[in-house]
Amino acid sequence: MKTRRIVLAARPEGLPKPTDFRLEEAELPPVGDGEVLLEIQYLSLDPYMRGRMDDVPAYEQPANAIGSVMEGGTVATVLQSRHPGYRAGEIVLSYSGWQSHAVEKTDELRKLDPKAAPVTTALGVLGMPGFTAYGGLLNIGQPKPDETVVVAAASGPVGSAVGQIAKIKGARAVGIVGGADKCRFVREELGFDAVVDHRSSDLAAQLKQACPKGIDVYFENVGGHVWDAVFPLLNLFARVPVCGLIAHYNDLPPFPGPDRLPVVMDAVLMNRYRIQGFIQYDFADQRPDFYREMTQWIREGKVKYREDFVDGLEKAPEALVGMLQGKNFGKLVVRIR
Ligand code: NDP
Repeated sequence: MKTRRIVLAARPEGLPKPTDFRLEEAELPPVGDGEVLLEIQYLSLDPYMRGRMDDVPAYEQPANAIGSVMEGGTVATVLQSRHPGYRAGEIVLSYSGWQSHAVEKTDELRKLDPKAAPVTTALGVLGMPGFTAYGGLLNIGQPKPDETVVVAAASGPVGSAVGQIAKIKGARAVGIVGGADKCRFVREELGFDAVVDHRSSDLAAQLKQACPKGIDVYFENVGGHVWDAVFPLLNLFARVPVCGLIAHYNDLPPFPGPDRLPVVMDAVLMNRYRIQGFIQYDFADQRPDFYREMTQWIREGKVKYREDFVDGLEKAPEALVGMLQGKNFGKLVVRIR
């Protein structure tokens, strides 16, 4: 059995180029006892993949080797099983990466029920990104009724869930996005209270207007010029879950100055900000609560989501690079089959 796969061909310098990836065919190992052969249907593209291309350890994992398959969450069909708990035809969530087929052990697989929810939601709103929003916002952000919660990348799977969960908790949700279409979607379809376009020349003034009582929770997805606009508006005792810094993922040192650390730390001290980084699996024990609550919220129409499909494994590199520039509109998923 062969797999078509995309491997890391070179370490990117700044924004990845097509030559940093290579499409190839490879022979799969035979299916061993307790293993399954999977046909990948959907591949999730996520911002963390950019960091995994660098020659530095990340998420407690060593750096990926040149020539290794690009990592990624996948939804797959079982083609053949040598495990008594799995049958051919079942759909599973796996971490098989950028390829068409894979042989996997079953300990890391999760069975999906296509009747319960569209299977692609296991990569987005009911998967890792949705859980990131849930864990980071509720544990660190702790929004209270009538507080103002601000989140950027607000049309994506993390940001859209952050704003909608904030509203469920009685807070005011303000989104920051790039472009008029995303603004319209976040305001009109997701029901945020206000939305601001970070590409506009007066972002800081618009954000101030959208947050007349300041900002109590800033869910940090972006960094860069968005952080600059948010920082002066933070209220006493504001909470800042630091989830991602996508504006910096392609930065190369030396980083732009001047050094603002003394100013930032002075504000943290005087205003008693709580700024805390997290990785979603820090809250792993809360996953059962997340699945239960998020499924219910989707059923009740309190949480909506948008998916952005790209067809063909060979399109994955271009789509990932596009995401790092804000070209995706919703949870980015590659249809492999
Ligand atoms: P999205 O689907 O929202 O895609 C990323 C979005 O980021 C783009 O669409 C774009 O939206 C925005 N963006 C890109 N570059 C910039 C920039 N320079 N300035 C401002 N906005 C930019 O991604 P996700 O929802 O999957 O992820 C959101 C964040 O969450 C990322 O930072 C990611 O790394 C982080 N994350 C962290 C996890 C954790 O455990 N800590 C787990 C999962 C995700 P727009 O056009 O609106 O600007």
